[in-house]
Amino acid sequence: MKIGLSFDIDWAPEEMIEDTLNLLKGYPNVNATFFATHKSNALEKAGYEIGIHPNFKPLLMCESNKNFKEIIDELLDIYPESKRFRAHTLTTSTFILEYISQVGLKYESNCLLPYSKRLRIFNYVYGLVKIPFNFEDDVHFGFNYPFELKFLNMEHDDLFIFNFHPIHIYSNNATPEHYSNVKKKNHNPTEVIKHRNFECKGTRDLLIELLEFSSLNQIKIQSLYDLYLSFVRDQSLKSNLSI
Ligand SMILES: [Zn+2]
Repeated sequence: MKIGLSFDIDWAPEEMIEDTLNLLKGYPNVNATFFATHKSNALEKAGYEIGIHPNFKPLLMCESNKNFKEIIDELLDIYPESKRFRAHTLTTSTFILEYISQVGLKYESNCLLPYSKRLRIFNYVYGLVKIPFNFEDDVHFGFNYPFELKFLNMEHDDLFIFNFHPIHIYSNNATPEHYSNVKKKNHNPTEVIKHRNFECKGTRDLLIELLEFSSLNQIKIQSLYDLYLSFVRDQSLKSNLSI
């Protein structure tokens, strides 16, 4: 079984990003990809793979004076080495895909297939590789599902890819109601921590359970780049074999 791990930082303040990074420390088997909406010194220092997480929502709502290329370029100016893409709210378009390919991005992870048992990485358009994912914390609490690994039935999966958000980890969100209370605190860490959920298992508990599971079972948790590399390697092996 292969397990991938990603985070969308979604404008989380540094304290919340550091909190997530601190949870990952101490698990040498764990790698991850962070999709960034803004500059984060903590993230850059931590050394994990960083992808861009542009927000096209203002453009869709006619509230932006920038076009889609400018929105992408702004983040690439901050993270010029980034080769990976996932849009906030998973906005997609062939225009976007063509452009990210032109500017040198290698893969996109813009498709959520909740709990899919047939998750696969595949070659996509414009020479990009597509890495769908099958778990997202806010979608999970939107369904009111329990935050326990056993609920996900991962044993029979070849590939399972998680996506978490530092805000939901920090506040241990477990329900939409809880999150709407947290949102009222304007993502202020000092205020949000007073409302961390201890009533039931939440996002933070699930992430910790996943980290412990990987450590106990010696299953490496991979970044999306790790998964991309093994996909590309398998592809070239297959094409060599067919010659
Ligand atoms: Zn997002």
